[in-house]
Amino acid sequence: MENKQNSILIDFLNNSLKEYENKMEEEFEMPTPCQKCGKIFDLNDGTGSVKWFPNTVICQKCGDEEEKEVERDDEIQDLKSQIDDANYTIKEARSRLIELGVDVPLRVHTPDY
Ligand SMILES: [Zn+2]
Repeated sequence: MENKQNSILIDFLNNSLKEYENKMEEEFEMPTPCQKCGKIFDLNDGTGSVKWFPNTVICQKCGDEEEKEVERDDEIQDLKSQIDDANYTIKEARSRLIELGVDVPLRVHTPDY
């Protein structure tokens, strides 16, 4: 008796799973769960992740968010290296002026310099 009930339950679950899979296949050619948000998306519509999950395709929405974050990181890096370059230029110009015998009284007051 118990076995029969179990097999009915298993059939029911299997059918539900099949229905779910069929539904997914109708909507998506290659249904894929997003590593970032867990949402199911079509692999063809996804975006290759570069920072969060390298070599993994994530959903388009998360891909857009990641792109914004990467752009922000790039800008921060760029601004930092602009400051480094400027500090280097000032330092080099000062020591060359001193070499040329020019009195360089000006001191640039920046924390890093
Ligand atoms: Zn996502």
